[in-house]
Amino acid sequence: MVEIEREKVRNNEEVAKIHHWINGRRVVGKSDRKGPVYNPATGRKTGEVDFASVQEVNGAVDAAKRAFPGWRTLSLSRRVEIFFRLRQLVNDNLDVIARTVTSEHGKVLSDAAAEVHVGLEMVEYCCGLPELLKGSFSEQVSTGYDVHSVRQPLGVVAGITPFNFPAMVPMWMIPFAIASGNTFVLKVSEKVPSASMLLAELMKEAGVPDGVVNIVHGDKVAVDALLEHPDVAAISFVGSTPIARYVYETATRHGKRVQALAGAKNHMIVLPDADIDMAADAAVSGGFGSAGERCMAVAQIVAVGGIGDRLVAAIKERIPRVKVGDGMDPDSEMGPLVTREHLKRVMSYIDKGRDQGATVVVDGRESVPNGDGFWLGPSLLDHVSADNIAYREEIFGPVLGVTRVASYEDAVKLANEHPWGNGAVIFTRDGGAARCFAVDVQAGMVGINVAIPVPVAYYSFGGWKSSLFGSSHIYGPEGFKFYTRGKVITTRWPDPSTSKVDLGFPRTR
Ligand code: NAD
Repeated sequence: MVEIEREKVRNNEEVAKIHHWINGRRVVGKSDRKGPVYNPATGRKTGEVDFASVQEVNGAVDAAKRAFPGWRTLSLSRRVEIFFRLRQLVNDNLDVIARTVTSEHGKVLSDAAAEVHVGLEMVEYCCGLPELLKGSFSEQVSTGYDVHSVRQPLGVVAGITPFNFPAMVPMWMIPFAIASGNTFVLKVSEKVPSASMLLAELMKEAGVPDGVVNIVHGDKVAVDALLEHPDVAAISFVGSTPIARYVYETATRHGKRVQALAGAKNHMIVLPDADIDMAADAAVSGGFGSAGERCMAVAQIVAVGGIGDRLVAAIKERIPRVKVGDGMDPDSEMGPLVTREHLKRVMSYIDKGRDQGATVVVDGRESVPNGDGFWLGPSLLDHVSADNIAYREEIFGPVLGVTRVASYEDAVKLANEHPWGNGAVIFTRDGGAARCFAVDVQAGMVGINVAIPVPVAYYSFGGWKSSLFGSSHIYGPEGFKFYTRGKVITTRWPDPSTSKVDLGFPRTR
């Protein structure tokens, strides 16, 4: 069973010391720069994470570079064995990983377990790596000529991940990158650093050789060092739009392949014929699950025609039933926000939204648990106009907006004119309208009567417009494509019928 190293400090409270993971072991940071890690449910500082210097990042990249030749040439069957062992180990340690996620992120245990399950799905998909890495072969393309194609790894690749899925997002990247023969350096969010350390230990236990997976913790210093490092061939980024844009521009300027998944404002369109109960349940689970800190969260409801009043009433009626509490309590359905700063930012949209004309139907500040945790209850704003800041910006918290429009066309126009296009969903009983929506809406992931249409591991995940920089979606088939480059080999051998060499078998054509 993996566990986190803890130290008693002055007031006898335990504080986790979170170091880097380089070349298969924990490495204490030398930069003297550290960041605090909190338990969002109590507001207490529970950990301290080392921030890497440029030299420390370079050390991790060197370790990955040294590990590359051996890993790249390891047979596919040996790699598969490692992936099957990893699958078992992640499954066996699911609970401890989920608890670690909850303790630093705040989301409830069932949500944390669900994200580890998704990570597990990624590993399971990668167990099929020999099939997924297959090239193709064409015999006799011209007389005596054959052509075949292969996909080869890029070398050292790096990932930079956000706070909201401490286990899952690293697993969107690492299994695909290493299954393809690359070695990896991860810069995980400094707010939630521990789950990835557990995953690194499990990878080692599964047989991933030292240096194949490395983790450096830190901030912009570490990120910039990766973006500019000449030995890093590709960058996978998941996080907010301004940083995604910066990462994309900087890393491509340094000649790297980049996929940068960014922010979102996912619209949920509810047509007048929708099943109200189904739509209201979906709005509540999709809007307030994980305290709205999901890039695929329902952020904005668009009520079409006359359905607005009934829908708002149905959501309002459900909100008091959402049990807000410590994620470790199995009865809790929604935990706190990740940090005090983020809490303040999210709360500010309730006032700003009202000041710009929205109606506050439910104010989540009025229903929070006691204590110093970073709490905000589910909040609902109605009549949010398209020029309201609460509509234009990503709130990334449990503040759900409702906009009312007259027609399906108005609803799609609204969604399509928004700069983000991660997910978009429609609730309706009309198959024709649903089909039109799937064709018309400008978003990378579409749900029909499904609140959070996250693709399974064997499809790929990614948005459109300002939700993605670069052309590649993440994980699934596009994951393998992103982490490999194609090579086409044209071959001609002397015609065996005229060859002078004794082949030991009849020369027939
Ligand atoms: P963030 O952009 O603040 O941080 C993401 C990563 O970038 C972290 O590792 C962080 O340390 C690093 N970083 C932060 N500031 C930086 C800077 N100035 N220079 C270089 N690196 C920097 O995002 P977050 O707050 O951790 O995560 C929430 C955001 O991520 C939301 O916008 C959410 O929509 C988005 N997100 C998107 C997806 C997706 O698939 N599209 C998935 C999850 C989260």
